[in-house]
Amino acid sequence: MNSNIIDIENLHKTYANGFEALKGISLQIREGAFFGLLGPNGAGKSTLINSMVGLVKPTSGSIRIAGFDIARNTSEALMNIGVVAQEILCDPFLSVYEMLSFQSGYYGLKNNDEWIEVIIDSLGLSEKRQTPCRLLSGGMKRRVMVAQALVHKPPIIVLDEPTAGVDVQLRNQLWQFIEKLHQRGHTIVLTTHYLEEAQNLCSEIAIINHGQIVTTGTTDQLLDSVEQNTVRFRLVKGQIPEKLRCRVLHAEAQSFVIGFSDAMDLGAILETLRTARCEIGNLQTSKATLEDLFIRVTQAD
Ligand code: ADP
Ligand code: MG
Repeated sequence: MNSNIIDIENLHKTYANGFEALKGISLQIREGAFFGLLGPNGAGKSTLINSMVGLVKPTSGSIRIAGFDIARNTSEALMNIGVVAQEILCDPFLSVYEMLSFQSGYYGLKNNDEWIEVIIDSLGLSEKRQTPCRLLSGGMKRRVMVAQALVHKPPIIVLDEPTAGVDVQLRNQLWQFIEKLHQRGHTIVLTTHYLEEAQNLCSEIAIINHGQIVTTGTTDQLLDSVEQNTVRFRLVKGQIPEKLRCRVLHAEAQSFVIGFSDAMDLGAILETLRTARCEIGNLQTSKATLEDLFIRVTQAD
């Protein structure tokens, strides 16, 4: 097997109503990656993730999970992946412990109690272990779903918007646990619309829009590609020089925002202003973020 633990080739999904949600996705995720799948609402992220675990049946194309084709070797593929779905699904009448115990049974795992206790403890569910799901808060239900995805210790853990609508404390606790799993060698794939979160956590990223991958690479590569550090200043005296006019991203009264690539470029901009005898005030620079890139690649429509 090559080092890509997930290998998706030319995946298409057209739903029964004729809507084409995935338009030929090819994506490789290497073993041990912390991979972020980003995209606006309706981009097809959940469709893609659900296809990886057989919850959605692709129209064409193939998915290999740890070398197993999800369509042909479904159970072997599923042993290698655990998904935390976007929607909260849990049996209202089962207690937290019962759910995890039953889930172990689905995978044919006996004597899984030791591991179940570890996940209950790590996810802060100890006090709720006997509580039926229907009595849990939204945040607690989310923890249970994470626990369920981990019951069979899958090498790949996929989380679809795990922190949507989750309070800060749980979010931090959840990330600590996920990072620990990543350090232990698990491959993590997540979707999130918190771009800052993705920028901090993920080593690799793909941005998807309208069912297609619009850009992919390591987080550093993507940030370097943005060339969208910005300098903001107020013109106290003088006119913006002709040479800079076409580079102005935003202008309001005498305030201007200009994009620049690196320190040399910024120096050149300031030199141009000085030569044109401009006097400036309120100088501020800000570094490119994933959000800048996200807006650029998803806004072209
Ligand atoms: P995301 O997770 O990126 O928000 P989804 O994969 O949930 O996007 O949805 C992608 C597109 O497919 C959306 O336009 C959505 O309305 C549509 N879609 C999702 N599920 C179905 C379905 N069962 N039938 C028809 N269209 C669907
Ligand atoms: Mg979704």
